[in-house]
Order: sequence, then C-alpha cells, then structure tokens
Amino acid sequence: MSVTVATTLEEALQALAATPGATIVAGGTDVMVEFNSGHRPLAGDAALVVVNRVAELCTWRHDGDALEIGAGVTWSQVGELAQWVPALADAARTVGSPQIRHAGTIGGNLGTCSPAGDGLPVLAALGAEVHLASLAGARSVPFAEFMVGPKRTALAPGELITHVTVPVLRGYQGYAKVGVRNAMVIATASVALVTDLAAGSVSLALGSVGPTILRCPEAEEFAAANIDLVAGRASAATVARFGELARAAARPIDDHRSTAAYRRHAVGVLAGRLLRRACPDE
Ligand SMILES: Cc1cc2nc3c(=O)[nH]c(=O)nc-3n(C[C@H](O)[C@H](O)[C@H](O)COP(=O)(O)OP(=O)(O)OC[C@H]3O[C@@H](n4cnc5c(N)ncnc54)[C@H](O)[C@@H]3O)c2cc1C
Repeated sequence: MSVTVATTLEEALQALAATPGATIVAGGTDVMVEFNSGHRPLAGDAALVVVNRVAELCTWRHDGDALEIGAGVTWSQVGELAQWVPALADAARTVGSPQIRHAGTIGGNLGTCSPAGDGLPVLAALGAEVHLASLAGARSVPFAEFMVGPKRTALAPGELITHVTVPVLRGYQGYAKVGVRNAMVIATASVALVTDLAAGSVSLALGSVGPTILRCPEAEEFAAANIDLVAGRASAATVARFGELARAAARPIDDHRSTAAYRRHAVGVLAGRLLRRACPDE
C-alpha cells in the first residue's frame, strides 16, 4: 500500500497520475468508514492520496458576487459563511457532530455524492459550479452534471475537486432535513430553497428522495409567478400548492431509513415550511 500526504496541489495531482485508482482522502469521515467496513479494499497495491494539508484546497474567497470554497474547507468553516450563503451554512451545521464537522469537508461530501449528503441540495439550488483539476488541466462542471447517479460523479481518473463556486444572492435561503432523530443523523428527506430577489426567482432542490439531487422546475416556476418575493408575501393556498409540487417532483424509494411515502410527504412539508419562511406574510 502507498500513502502520499500531499502538501501542494501539484504534488497531489502528480500522485494521482502516478497511481491510477488511488483513493483521495480529505477528512476521512466517509472513506475510513468504507475501509473499516470492507466496502473499500485497503490492501495490496491500494494507494491513498491525502489532500487535507494542501493549502490551495483549504481556503475560501469572497469575490464580488461569487464565493469560491476550496474542496478541503471543513463543515465547521462552511458554517461560518452564513452572511454569503446562508443555506449552505444551515446545511453545514446539520452535518454529523462537531468532530465530524471539524474533519469532514465540502469536497468529501461531493466526492461521496450520496443523495443524502447535506451540502448537495444547497449546491444544486444555488447552481454551483464544481471545479476539477488533473495534470492534463482544469475544467468546471455545473453541479447537475457533476452528480451523475447515487454515489457517482463526473470525476475522471486522475482528477480531483479543487473548489466550488456559488453565487452570492440577495434573498431568503434555507435548508431543512428530517431523519430518524434530531441530531447526528443522515437525512431521510431534505430540502434547500434559494430565492434571488434580483432575478425574481425561486430554486428548490430535494435530497434523499431520488437517485440524485432533484430540482423542481414546476414548483420553482409556480412560486416565482405567484408570490411577492420583495414584499415577502405568499397566500396559504400558494404555500400548500408549492408543497404539493415538491411532493410530485420526488422519486423516493423504501429503504432501511424510511418509506417512500413518508419521504414524499416530508419534502412537501419542508418545502412549504421554507417557502413560508421566505414569505412570512399572507
Ligand atoms: C458519524 C458520521 C456522521 C455523519 N453525518 C453526516 C451528515 O449528517 N450529513 C452528511 O452529509 N454527511 C455525514 N457524514 C458523512 C461525511 O462526514 C461527509 O460526507 C463529509 O463531507 C465527507 O468529507 P471528508 O472530507 O471526510 O471526505 P473523505 O472521507 O475524505 O472522502 C469522501 C469521498 O470523497 C472523495 N474526495 C475527498 N476529497 C476529494 C477531492 N478534493 N476531490 C475528489 N474527491 C475527493 C474521497 O476519495 C471519497 O470518495 C457523516 C459521517 C460520519 C462518520
């Protein structure tokens, strides 16, 4: 087994090119579980490329109307970014425990790409760009093209995630999830709502109710046409219909965490609740 603890991006990319199939390790909160459970083999010619000491990956930068967040930025740090991306900070604060949030990173959440990952519905609703690099060069893909299936990404061999870019918007944003208990819980259903006062738009993304994170174009168009975003006003009927459209967009399954029926119900409730927070007046 080989382990490379990279301290620069160049070093990490060299190691990935030299050991095709190597596992990238950031905080290790997902991969260590996979190693321990045997779901990811850790023997023979296994190679690890550890990236959590690569300074270029562990910084964030606010630049005008965008925020760049390095893949190695931890959930504890993302929780501090509420003034620019309130929904992402909300999501960050729901990830695991303080220990997990200190180690786990936004890049690791993207690398795992579970439909239950708490960061992902927010990145989908914000229309995040995911930036990738390899020795061959850099490219960026919209989040919707990055997550290609449950735990499947558009990462090519030799590539790693360097950072994500999200817009800094004016308007309400929120994230809500339900699980089998109140804390330290993987979402059985989650919802991110992002409003953009300048564009007059509403974005809604659902987690844990489909093979990927689902956007809800019908609910989004309905909300934009029927609420007064600037005044923060929506009728009770509009909020109820928005919840119904969120439910209709879900594609949940029964599994060990929940039933499809409960998940569908939950996203409707959460979507309506977030829209009411965006528009507190009737
Ligand atoms: C007790 C516990 C509770 C948890 N609770 C939650 C929760 O509430 N919500 C939630 O969403 N998650 C939760 N998780 C899962 C995990 O903490 C998160 O997914 C976290 O964001 C993973 O980040 P990491 O840096 O630890 O990733 P790692 O484990 O280091 O890596 C995860 C995956 O991403 C890849 N990867 C890492 N960095 C990069 C990169 N820069 N480029 C390309 N690929 C990369 C790795 O190869 C691996 O496939 C929990 C985990 C544990 C153990």
